[in-house]
Amino acid sequence: MNVLVINAGSSSLKYQLMNPETGDVTAKGLCERIYIDGRLTHKVGDKKVVKDIPMPTHSEAIAAVLEILQDPEHGVIKSVDEIDAVGHRVLHGGMKFSDSCIIDDACIKAIEECIPLGPLHNPANLMGIRACQAVMPTKPQVAVFDTAFHMTMPPKAYRYAIPTEYYENDDIRRYGFHGTSHKYIARRVASILGKKEFKLVNCHLGNGSSLSAVKDGKCMDTSMGLSPLAGVPMGTRSGDIDACVVQFICNKYGMSVDECLNMLNKKSGMLGISGVSSDFRDLEQGSADGNENCTLALEKFCYEVAKYVGSYAAALNGIDILTFTAGVGENGPDTRQMICDYLAFMGVKLDPEKNKIRGKEMMISAPDSKVQVWVVPTNEELMIAQDTAELVNG
Ligand code: ADP
Repeated sequence: MNVLVINAGSSSLKYQLMNPETGDVTAKGLCERIYIDGRLTHKVGDKKVVKDIPMPTHSEAIAAVLEILQDPEHGVIKSVDEIDAVGHRVLHGGMKFSDSCIIDDACIKAIEECIPLGPLHNPANLMGIRACQAVMPTKPQVAVFDTAFHMTMPPKAYRYAIPTEYYENDDIRRYGFHGTSHKYIARRVASILGKKEFKLVNCHLGNGSSLSAVKDGKCMDTSMGLSPLAGVPMGTRSGDIDACVVQFICNKYGMSVDECLNMLNKKSGMLGISGVSSDFRDLEQGSADGNENCTLALEKFCYEVAKYVGSYAAALNGIDILTFTAGVGENGPDTRQMICDYLAFMGVKLDPEKNKIRGKEMMISAPDSKVQVWVVPTNEELMIAQDTAELVNG
């Protein structure tokens, strides 16, 4: 089976053609500068081709993807018939979606109704869906939501302690994001441990970072909230912050709330503290060169991640397994070590040799660690392809 996985942004569109059973990726790529001019980068194995193709809308971008997939020189399929289904990443499913969903009119309407919750992403995701419907009207399509995995959280985890009317009238609550990644890791952990009952804390640490507390495969709590701004500090996001900071800054600097939130989303986090970069490799280099702000940024990050793990240990009444995934989680031994040092009190102990691993699934805890610690590379596209295949095959 071949599933085309689509992740549509406002001016970009990523794609992968993959086999959901084996995880083999036959081709992948990126359309950029949609609505501006248009550029396609297409990769098959180690071979890469870049083409400037006019993309006035997402429809031309999808058409360009289908064309290059069938291209005699760079293609991997002879006809669109070889694509069995399309899986779309959708950011916000609100309270309407606790699982992935076959795309029909009702599904599209529900995604539209979630636009107030995901004002930047949902419209772009919908453009990707509509563009695929336009160029492949008969292909089954599936929406996979970033929020869906977290819908098993109990009310004490997802409700904010503000007047109930905002929840009842406006759906204001914790939703959480990176759900496709957290779900993938929870499934991997079930397979690693060979059982369905386990207490897991998954640390998805990338440019955006979130943690989830998972019991027996179900999400019990997660660090992001109504939006991806909440939780631990990230590349450019502040993470959790006292709302009065917003009031103070808006009043003092004459900023609008939107401007202030833009600062909290795009200029804060590791970039804000270090003043150097949002990228952990730059921060590690800066810290090694003696830049104290880079050191502080890294310390702040690890401290806050460790605090979340500690609080989730309390939420789950103990942890069996701690996993690290995404760019930093998979490739940052120093970050993992610094986080786990805080957790020694609960018996977490890394094997320093094993912890040198980058980008591979492996247990990195010492044999006498009370909690197993693993690096598990995430694969959101594979999770989307698998959900798509499951729904389409019934
Ligand atoms: P996104 O949230 O954009 O998907 P990623 O999961 O790709 O982000 O993570 C990006 C982060 O991962 C960057 O801060 C980058 O520095 C970090 N990263 C990637 N490779 C390495 C590495 N080899 N060592 C340390 N950090 C790395």
